[in-house]
Amino acid sequence: MIERRHTRQVAVGSVKIGGGAPIAVQSMTNTDTRDSAATLAQITRLAEAGCEIVRVAIPHADALPGFGEICSASPLPVVADIHFDHRLAIEATRLGAAKLRINPGNIGSIDRVDAVIEAAGEAGIPVRIGVNAGSLAAEYEDRDWPLAEKLFASAVSFCEHIAGRGFEDLVVSAKASSVNATVDSYRLLANALPYPLHIGVTEAGTSLSGTVKSSVGLGILLAEGIGDTLRVSLTADPAEEVTVGWEILAALDIRRRSPELVSCPTCGRCEVDMVPIAQEVERRLRTMRTPVKVAVMGCAVNGPGEARDADVGIASGKGVGLLFRHGQVIRKVPEAEIVEALMAEVEALDRELSQGAK
Ligand code: SF4
Repeated sequence: MIERRHTRQVAVGSVKIGGGAPIAVQSMTNTDTRDSAATLAQITRLAEAGCEIVRVAIPHADALPGFGEICSASPLPVVADIHFDHRLAIEATRLGAAKLRINPGNIGSIDRVDAVIEAAGEAGIPVRIGVNAGSLAAEYEDRDWPLAEKLFASAVSFCEHIAGRGFEDLVVSAKASSVNATVDSYRLLANALPYPLHIGVTEAGTSLSGTVKSSVGLGILLAEGIGDTLRVSLTADPAEEVTVGWEILAALDIRRRSPELVSCPTCGRCEVDMVPIAQEVERRLRTMRTPVKVAVMGCAVNGPGEARDADVGIASGKGVGLLFRHGQVIRKVPEAEIVEALMAEVEALDRELSQGAK
C-alpha cells in the first residue's frame, strides 16, 4: 500500500485534486480551439477513454469565443492553458474555465501574474503554476544549478509570492523532458510545498519512448506517494495519453479502470498464436469496468497456475485452450474459439458482479 503525501485540496469543477482525492487523469486537446465542435468531439472521446480533466490551449484572442463554447458544453472540467498574454487568462475565468494553467515565467511581469490570480480568485477557480525547463523564473535562469533545483526554486518563488497575496488554491508542476530532472524537482517540491502536484514528464516523446519515460518517471514519483493528478505527454493521439495514464496507476495498484490482463510473453513452448489472441482480449477488456483479473497463457508451464489464479483464464495446449473460472476448469476450446469463449466467460462474470453491486 502506497502512503500518499498529504496536501491541500482544490476543486476543478466536480473533480477534486489533492487532500486524499483519487489521482485524476488528465489530457490536453490538440484540435484548433477556434473549432469548438471538433474540440468538443475530441473531449468526448477523451472522456470515453477515461480522461477526468481536460486542458485546452488559448493561444490568442481568436480562440476565446470557441473556448467559451467548449466550457459550456464539455462533459469534463476544462482547464485554460495560457502562455504570454495574461489578458487571455483573465478572460478565460469569465468564460467558464474550471482552472487556469499559467507559467508565471512567461507571463511578462509579476503584476500581470497578480492580475490573473485576482481574476481566478473572483471566479473561485484554482490555478496551476506550471513551470517548465524552457521558462524559469528570471532570477534562476542563468544560475549554474542542476535543472531540478532551478525548476524547484522557480516554482517555490512563484507560489510564495501568490500565497503571500492570500491565494492558495494552487496546483504545482515542474516538468522537464529528462526523467531524472523531473523526479528530482518533484521530490523537492513534495518536501517544501503543501499544494497538490500535477506530475508529468514533459515532451516525453512518441507512443513508445514517451510511454516508457512517463512510466518510469511517474512510476517512481507515485510509488513514493508523490502526485495528485497526472498527464502523460505523448506525440500521439491524446486518448493514448489517457490510456497510458490509467495503465501506470493500475500497474501500481493505485486506481484501476478496466480489468487486469495477465498474458505470457510467449516463447518456443507456445502452442497457439498467442499475440493476436492477447491483443484482441486486451482491446475488448478496455471497454469493461469490472475489476476482474484475466489471464491468457501460451502453454502448460506457467499457464494453468496463472489461469487458475485469475478470475477467468486460458491455459493453452496444442491448438486448444483450457478455460478456467475461479480456479476451476470449465471446458476445453479450440484455438479459433479462445477469444470468444474467454470473453463470454468474462462478460458473464461482469454481469454477475454488476447485478450483485445493485
Ligand atoms: S506460459 Fe509457456 S509459452 Fe508462455 S512464456 Fe511461459 S513457458 Fe512460454
